[in-house]
Amino acid sequence: MKKVAVVGCGAYMDSGYGCPGEWRCLKAAALGDGKFEEPSQVVAFVKCECPGRTIVPNMGMAMKLSEIKPDLIYLSSCLVNPKPGCPYGTGEEFAEILESSTGIKVILGTHDYH
Ligand code: SF4
Repeated sequence: MKKVAVVGCGAYMDSGYGCPGEWRCLKAAALGDGKFEEPSQVVAFVKCECPGRTIVPNMGMAMKLSEIKPDLIYLSSCLVNPKPGCPYGTGEEFAEILESSTGIKVILGTHDYH
């Protein structure tokens, strides 16, 4: 079973509705739904905070404190496809920053639930 870390959009998470931290990303990971090719163990759930500068240090801290290096990092569906859009960067840009700083492959999106 793969070990994965998920990054959610803090603006969504803080507003509650459809929050990536409630169940959607977790259910998709548990069942191997959506962008998860197999049931996966979520070993970290990191919240992006505007303007996105904390993504890399917070992910680094999660890996350091948990002492687990995830096999993959997932950017949540609402981080990758926010409505209205994120004014600070695209999912592709955040993924590139995370990949180059951690060396871990980043997957864009987590689930297709509504
Ligand atoms: S920077 Fe963008 S992705 Fe990150 S919390 Fe703010 S709106 Fe969401």
